Amino acid sequence: MKSGHMISRRGFCLCCMGTATFAATGGWMSPREAYAEARGLVSLIKDSAAQAKIVTHRLRDNVSILEGSGGNVAVLSGRDGLVMVDAGISVSRHQMTKALSAISPQPVTHLINTHWHFDHSDGNPWIGAGGAEIIAHENTRKYLSQVKRVEDWDYNFLPLVQTGLPGRVFSKEHSVKLNGQSLTLKHYRSAHTDGDISVMFAEADVLHTGDTYWNGIYPFIDYSTGGGIDGMIAASDANLAASTDKTIIIPGHGNPVSNRAELQEFRDMLVAIRENVATLKRQGRSKNETVAAKPTAAFDLKWGNFVIDPGFFTRLVYEGV
Ligand SMILES: [Zn+2]
Repeated sequence: MKSGHMISRRGFCLCCMGTATFAATGGWMSPREAYAEARGLVSLIKDSAAQAKIVTHRLRDNVSILEGSGGNVAVLSGRDGLVMVDAGISVSRHQMTKALSAISPQPVTHLINTHWHFDHSDGNPWIGAGGAEIIAHENTRKYLSQVKRVEDWDYNFLPLVQTGLPGRVFSKEHSVKLNGQSLTLKHYRSAHTDGDISVMFAEADVLHTGDTYWNGIYPFIDYSTGGGIDGMIAASDANLAASTDKTIIIPGHGNPVSNRAELQEFRDMLVAIRENVATLKRQGRSKNETVAAKPTAAFDLKWGNFVIDPGFFTRLVYEGV
């Protein structure tokens, strides 16, 4: 699949801005330089999301996925009202509302944020203003409450308005029964950020992994808010332990309906590239020399076609080994 197609189909996310420019210019710019080259990209991302079609994937037991506004959004319907996992980007509000009401006329009563990133929480204010209780890890509320700088993007994110902030937070685990489903929210510790949580729908046997899993594409790792490659691998192990061959797995990004075999492949890719990069770093190679040695080469054909390209992913891994 061509990356251009995937970009338009999946929508942009902030994780991707620098490398999109990187790919377009074909140069070895750092994400910071790339971002400086293209300050207008935030509005481009929003414009793209505003026009993106929301695709609904119905899974089982009233669990669906909405694809097309930032990260993959899970929706659980039933008598308790709509329960959303992640909020998408606010410019998609109209499309999102249409997709939600096609599932059920009920209002959104609960919104769970898998982590603080814009492409998963930008819709919080309109959903919160509608009366939904917002649930997240305590670090997610912390980051959404303050000006947060992401160094890799040379970008300062402003705090959300009060209605968009999680009203219920937890540190390790939180369980709640809604619409006949036992939901278990579990903190991963440091993974893609240090506020990531998984959401397990027990009876439906559906696991939303947030951005600890990107299906078929190299993931972003946000070191500026506590993420790291070793935590990503540990999170993959936790996701594997929490699932069976029958579990439907929803990744934060990439093809939204996934399974344990694909997750295993993602985990093995992370481990192999981590080892390759660590070996080069131990030999004293600089970051640029490590990128030039192409430690991801065996995986690029399958995983390198989205916006976190091989060079950028190598830099992210290098940072954490
Ligand atoms: Zn993210």
